[in-house]
Amino acid sequence: MTAPRKVPLIQTPTPLHRLDRLSKDLGIDLWIKRDDLTGFGGGGNKGRKLEYLMADALDQQAEVMVTCGTTQSNFVRQLGAACSVFGIKCAAATMDLPYLEVPPGSHALGGVNGNVLLDDLLGVDLRLHPDGDWDHLYALAEELALEYEAAGKRVYRVPIGGSSKLGAYSFYLAAKEVQAQSVEPFDWIIFASSSGSTHIGLTYAFHRTKTKVLGIACDPEPEIVEEFAEFGEGLATMLEVPTLAASDFSMDFDFVGQGYAAASPETDEAILSMARREGIFLDPVYTGKSFTGLMRLASSGKVGGRVLFWHTGGFPSVFAASGLAT
Ligand SMILES: *Cc1c(COP(=O)(O)O)cnc(C)c1O
Repeated sequence: MTAPRKVPLIQTPTPLHRLDRLSKDLGIDLWIKRDDLTGFGGGGNKGRKLEYLMADALDQQAEVMVTCGTTQSNFVRQLGAACSVFGIKCAAATMDLPYLEVPPGSHALGGVNGNVLLDDLLGVDLRLHPDGDWDHLYALAEELALEYEAAGKRVYRVPIGGSSKLGAYSFYLAAKEVQAQSVEPFDWIIFASSSGSTHIGLTYAFHRTKTKVLGIACDPEPEIVEEFAEFGEGLATMLEVPTLAASDFSMDFDFVGQGYAAASPETDEAILSMARREGIFLDPVYTGKSFTGLMRLASSGKVGGRVLFWHTGGFPSVFAASGLAT
């Protein structure tokens, strides 16, 4: 295959190291992949995808990149940083809680802080809308794209979370990065899964190996794996390998809590464990939930041996999480 073009944005390989104290606590051989340290735009897993997405946008001579997400979207922040580098305008339609039904008692992360503050520093055109559902949010992003086009701009529409076959390809390569860094293969790789490219890339790379790839869901939508299978078709074509089915994507929905971006006291506990045992910060939307899952699955004996926790970033939203239980 001809490899897609990329532009350099991040620092790779990101560190991979053992978590000695938590290994002892949990009775497993626990390692961490530090994609919180991708070294660009505040870090996080989206930097990998953006190296390919930005190359594609430049090829199409984009003047504005339009996307959508939650108010504290890590993707919008990293896209904003990437746009700054290339002198492209970044615009995003956002909602605090884009649910079909807002779970009772849930509160969004709020205020002009965390990622929103960073978006402001980067000059992102951020349009905050009242809560609604995902389809409405996608429609608002399209309106925003049309608004820029009406003003004569060449718009590049970016799917939520940067999840496309290019995004998945970047994580297929990230898996190769881990294989090169680690002498022994892992029994498990566990991470926060949402818009899909992280999950799809890793699953394709480790299919039919001893390594089990397990996504911890951050959205309460079991049908999401069907979408992953569809996205995966584009990657399979690129790699010239057989397509994987929805059932090939392992996803655990037990740690979603009340819904996307609604953290539970258990999430807070996971955040505190990682901070107080290893000095590493997790976030309340993604990595806090996925690490909760890892801790619980290890305690119940469902997960064991040599385990890799993939830290996908998200640190800035800690500053928007009021009332993190200490
Ligand atoms: C976007 C994001 C994820 C999910 O990655 P996807 O590839 O969208 O599934 C996980 N963790 C953090 C911190 C993120 O920002």
